Amino acid sequence: MIRSTLLKLSESKSFARWVTSNNTTRRMSHRFVAGEALDEAIAAARECNDQRMLVSLDYLGENVSTTEDAQRARDAFLEVFDRIAAERLDANVSCKLTQLGLDISAEFCEGQLLSIVARARSYSNFLRVDMEGSLYTARTIDVVKRVRSQNPAVGTVIQAYLYRSEQDVQDLLAYGCRIRLCKGAYKEPPEVAFPRKQDVDANYVKLMRMLLPSGFYHGIATHDPRMIAATIRCAAEKKVSKQDFEFQMLYGVRTDLQQQLVRDGFRVRIYIPYGQDWFPYFMRRLAERPANLAFFARNFFR
Ligand SMILES: Cc1cc2nc3c(=O)[nH]c(=O)nc-3n(C[C@H](O)[C@H](O)[C@H](O)COP(=O)(O)OP(=O)(O)OC[C@H]3O[C@@H](n4cnc5c(N)ncnc54)[C@H](O)[C@@H]3O)c2cc1C
Repeated sequence: MIRSTLLKLSESKSFARWVTSNNTTRRMSHRFVAGEALDEAIAAARECNDQRMLVSLDYLGENVSTTEDAQRARDAFLEVFDRIAAERLDANVSCKLTQLGLDISAEFCEGQLLSIVARARSYSNFLRVDMEGSLYTARTIDVVKRVRSQNPAVGTVIQAYLYRSEQDVQDLLAYGCRIRLCKGAYKEPPEVAFPRKQDVDANYVKLMRMLLPSGFYHGIATHDPRMIAATIRCAAEKKVSKQDFEFQMLYGVRTDLQQQLVRDGFRVRIYIPYGQDWFPYFMRRLAERPANLAFFARNFFR
């Protein structure tokens, strides 16, 4: 109930305006967002690298409705790759296709993605296309497959809560595509997604067991100790080396677990979001854990 309300609110433009213009909530967003400027994200990435963690930088934004905004987002992503190289960071980049104009046209969006992936490849780097709500799943996979056929420096994300994901994993593996596996963060109807957490978790383990021994380098994105333990068991059973996959976690979530995995010799990548358009991302993080909401409410009223 709380989760649904927060996810619904994450789509409200007027609530977004109020939250992002309020100094207290802006300060509180720093729990999950590195800052509004690229410099702040670079500083957070440097700190992660110093702690032997890899990074994926995410310039926040989604559902842009004009070509100008989509082109501005593309330019911001080109700049991120330049900065990563100039600063010698061990970092790649994540983006969303609706930020690059998927709502305007798939062809326009594909052209934008191609230019960013070309920049990634020029630095031997990599771009991860995040997965959004299920209205976009098929289109996202199609665009990624088309771009990937011209340039392999791109991969995408599969959400374990969708019924279709097993088929998508098989399909993408046939293309040699690198996949990030996550549970899924959007509000989805029971016609497309498992409504019960235990079914999502069971599907997560099933998909992880398809990915790990596939011979491609994938990202296992979760903070759930049970998913992590299942992954470690699977890697040992299938003789997949610790270098041949990575765990991925969100900035500001379970830093204790992030550090423990590094100490245990695993590769860990931290997803660091930044930018002015942090509201929907922030709301999805609140929705994932009701305790977060209580924590923020207490701080807000204090
Ligand atoms: C690197 C990365 C990239 C992602 N990319 C996408 C994407 O492209 N598309 C998409 O739909 N989703 C994405 N997600 C979000 C993901 O789908 C889940 O919503 C989120 O990771 C929570 O699921 P979980 O696997 O951690 O398990 P859960 O069962 O939700 O949580 C397990 C435990 O982790 C901790 N935890 C989880 N979330 C939080 C939080 N917000 N605050 C505090 N503690 C928390 C709690 O201790 C919780 O008990 C991404 C997640 C990660 C880590």
